Amino acid sequence: MQINKLVKECAAELNIDICRVTDNQKLETEFEILKERSQGQFWPQPFANQNLEELTTPVLHFPNLKSIIAAAVSYNHNEANLFLSNYVTVEDYHSYLENKLEKLASRLQQKLNYSFNYKIFVDQAPFLEKALAQKAGLGFIGKNTLLINPKLGSNLFLGEIFTDLEIAVDQPLDLDCGSCRLCLESCQVQALKEANLLAAEDCTAYLTQKKGILTESEIKKIGHHIWGCDDCKDVCPYNKKSKASAAKKLQFFNKNLEYFLNLESKEVPAELDNTAVTWRGSRILLRNAMLAAANLKEKRFFNKIKQKLNDNSPIIRYYAAYSLLKIDFKKAKKIVKEYLNQEQNSEYKNKIKKILVSEEDNNGS
Ligand code: SF4
Ligand code: SF4
Repeated sequence: MQINKLVKECAAELNIDICRVTDNQKLETEFEILKERSQGQFWPQPFANQNLEELTTPVLHFPNLKSIIAAAVSYNHNEANLFLSNYVTVEDYHSYLENKLEKLASRLQQKLNYSFNYKIFVDQAPFLEKALAQKAGLGFIGKNTLLINPKLGSNLFLGEIFTDLEIAVDQPLDLDCGSCRLCLESCQVQALKEANLLAAEDCTAYLTQKKGILTESEIKKIGHHIWGCDDCKDVCPYNKKSKASAAKKLQFFNKNLEYFLNLESKEVPAELDNTAVTWRGSRILLRNAMLAAANLKEKRFFNKIKQKLNDNSPIIRYYAAYSLLKIDFKKAKKIVKEYLNQEQNSEYKNKIKKILVSEEDNNGS
């Protein structure tokens, strides 16, 4: 049997939703696009490799590379969560998909009756994963920068097997967004500057992962989001009509704002261990929950946030004071002044003093 066909058969047996093959060639078009973008305003992209050769030359990541098996698993589910992006409400896909791809490679070796060399990547290698998936025909890259499969939409986890096995390649799909602009119009913070151009520094999904002191404008952009943002994905017609995942065994987690406000700043609860939401630690989730409560003016969580003024972490105390002032200034004013008398961290203390003065001006007191 042709190896390409065998790859797809084995992938289907393992409940991998889509699996196709591409070659080892450099992504020349993407290289030229990135070269131009790297001179522009929206560069560099946070958390991404900046080395254009590494990003676009697969062979640099596996020297004897002949073929790339590109795979996708859908995490479509119908449970909306106001605070969390869909991809963190299911079990961590890194280990899930790695495991599937490891099984796929073993099964292929078994059926072919010879061993080949391979390396598995799931979101950890500094190359353009979506561009490779597009080239293999898993889908097309939409104006919202996401890979879209016409049947499954864009709620997809991607992974690859780089191998020295020669396999016939698949062709890219002949599809694009056409005249649709729904994602560009839906972005509340105008982070999608034009088709396929994301200003990551403005994007809510990035800001929910950014550590340190955020500006007032960045806090507003976080809005009600504790982790990630799906606005430009949820409006996409391909997601509205997408089929449910074949990977039905993905465990589902659904947590609300109160749950995250109850987190301890130092410890990640064991039940979140197997989700991608803990990637940046517990403190940032607690911070985002307090900011979401502040942006939503959630008075019922005032006392819960007040307790965080005694947290061991100065930055958590800072964001607790900030959030209290934003939720209910009149009630918070005296409490925050008392907190300032005890705060030892002069940097955060001075910042909160300034916010207090500015809120006093805004509230006319
Ligand atoms: S993830 Fe949210 S903030 Fe980022 S581009 Fe999409 S809609 Fe805009
Ligand atoms: S919303 Fe429309 S323009 Fe945006 S990715 Fe989907 S199809 Fe493309």
